Amino acid sequence: MHVRKNDIVQVAAGDDAGKTGKVLFVMTKQDRVVVEGINFIQKHIKRSEKNSQGGRVQKEAPVSVSNVLVICQNKNCEKNGKGVRTGRKILENGDKIRVCYKCRSEIIASE
Ligand SMILES: [Zn+2]
Repeated sequence: MHVRKNDIVQVAAGDDAGKTGKVLFVMTKQDRVVVEGINFIQKHIKRSEKNSQGGRVQKEAPVSVSNVLVICQNKNCEKNGKGVRTGRKILENGDKIRVCYKCRSEIIASE
């Protein structure tokens, strides 16, 4: 999976195309991710002790991981701030890192 939790991603398709947000949740088996502020759905809440009003809340629904691209944060990259495809690079110590396909700089998830 090219997307990790806390990555900043850009949506490439659908109603939210072009929007960016932080990855809150990765569902590896389903190939889906939940992104902050993306793909809102109305959820109905039943009246309960906790919520005496009941009603509706907005909640992010998962989107297909194939519809999001990680943002390149390298300021010198022509794709800076935009969604990019990622590649892999193997370091001398054997670590595999994700890199921007354009500038080959490492993609690092924010904490
Ligand atoms: Zn880049």
